[in-house]
Amino acid sequence: SRPTPVPRLLSRNAALQRLLSTLALLEQRDGKLNMSSLAAVSAAVKLGGSVHGFVAGGNVKAVADEAAKVEGLEKVIFVDNTAYDRGLPENWAPLLVENIKKGGYTHVMAGHSAFGKNVLPRVSALLDVQQISDITAIESEDTFVRPIYAGNAILTVQSSDSPKILTVRGTAFPSGSTEGGSATVEEGVDPKVESVTEWVSEELAKSDRPELATAEKVVSGGRGLKSKEEFDRVMTPLADALGAAIGASRAAVDSGFADNSLQVGQTGKNVAPQLYLCAGISGAIQHLAGMKDSKVIAAINKDADAPIFQVADVGLVGDLFEKVPELTEKLKA
Ligand code: FAD
Repeated sequence: SRPTPVPRLLSRNAALQRLLSTLALLEQRDGKLNMSSLAAVSAAVKLGGSVHGFVAGGNVKAVADEAAKVEGLEKVIFVDNTAYDRGLPENWAPLLVENIKKGGYTHVMAGHSAFGKNVLPRVSALLDVQQISDITAIESEDTFVRPIYAGNAILTVQSSDSPKILTVRGTAFPSGSTEGGSATVEEGVDPKVESVTEWVSEELAKSDRPELATAEKVVSGGRGLKSKEEFDRVMTPLADALGAAIGASRAAVDSGFADNSLQVGQTGKNVAPQLYLCAGISGAIQHLAGMKDSKVIAAINKDADAPIFQVADVGLVGDLFEKVPELTEKLKA
């Protein structure tokens, strides 16, 4: 059998690696670990050094035990308090600061999700350091790569801050195995800070479909769908036939064809599925920023000059109202 390869960063500076320690934020909802938040663990493992997971909320011991099996985690720290259930950043920021200080971490990582983007800037402000957002690669313990200008330029950032606070792009750091790990589970500190912010309610789009950000296949519709009724009538059977998640362009979301949570792009979600099949989407740079890392991009558009065809692996010029139902029937057959 071949020897296990030594990670590049580890081999470069083994002594330094031993000093590194990362706190990776794990997201949970209603007692279930959010698998897409495990990108923070994957990134931390890539960096090297010891990696601790952090989870908080009411009755989260079971989630902590589940997380202990995630490969690469040495320790899982949990704080059991319902004040942290809904991810309110006003509650979470002081909680994290206390636990970061206690653990003396060199790095703190979270997914570049709504939660990570909400919480870590406050943590950075309280610690008086500058956050580095949406990293897609790690060059060394202080140098990170991130896209700017909607992915049109790639920036390499070196930071002398301590600790380094980072959000990581999920599609760049695929989650490792959720089995086989044997982390210890330990209770963290709870500052129990009185907050003036209270969680009142939320309206969530319910769906049995795969989660958009981590789905293997995504079908996505744009302004070309013309209305919400048509979007549902044309795109839903296609998604069903493929077992795919549904996405949308911002124009489709702004026009009320699709829910806000389905937006793909610079100001929406980043996806990198095996297949991204889009119809009636022109391919604006802000849309491409969220999907151009997909393995296979297929596009249906009636305009042969639409920019989406410049990034598409497979293109079909035609009327989507004709082509999509035809394709759906063929897939079903
Ligand atoms: P359009 O550009 O109007 O394209 C519709 C396409 O449908 C056309 O190519 C047309 O040929 C085709 N079509 C029409 N009818 C048919 C038919 N019957 N059959 C086949 N094809 C048909 N956009 C995003 O998507 N995500 C983002 O996150 C995002 N963030 C943004 C952030 C900023 C700061 C800004 C300024 C813009 C952002 N945008 C984003 C908007 C972006 O610039 C585009 O306006 C948007 O992506 C266009 O959506 P669309 O392709 O659905 O619509």
